[in-house]
Amino acid sequence: MKVDDRRGFIKFLGVSFGVATLGTSEAFGKNSKEAANYVESPKNGEKCSNCFHFKKETSMCTIVEGKVLPKGWCKFYLSEDVRREG
Ligand code: SF4
Repeated sequence: MKVDDRRGFIKFLGVSFGVATLGTSEAFGKNSKEAANYVESPKNGEKCSNCFHFKKETSMCTIVEGKVLPKGWCKFYLSEDVRREG
């Protein structure tokens, strides 16, 4: 592979990675509360305050629009334990 080919390939990888990282909910907008089946009460011990997606500083969710209650819940709940295990 020539130097120019390698540079082109590296640029291609960079662009591809950039496009792949756009595949987040932030890039395409957050889910509505309705679409997430959000409710203002916990479900079987699961609640926003112990969800991976919850930002306690702002009471916002990274994937559901608007403020959410710490005691709220939605179908996208993900245990914050994944943060510790990861
Ligand atoms: S339970 Fe749903 S709304 Fe609450 S923080 Fe997690 S993903 Fe967001």
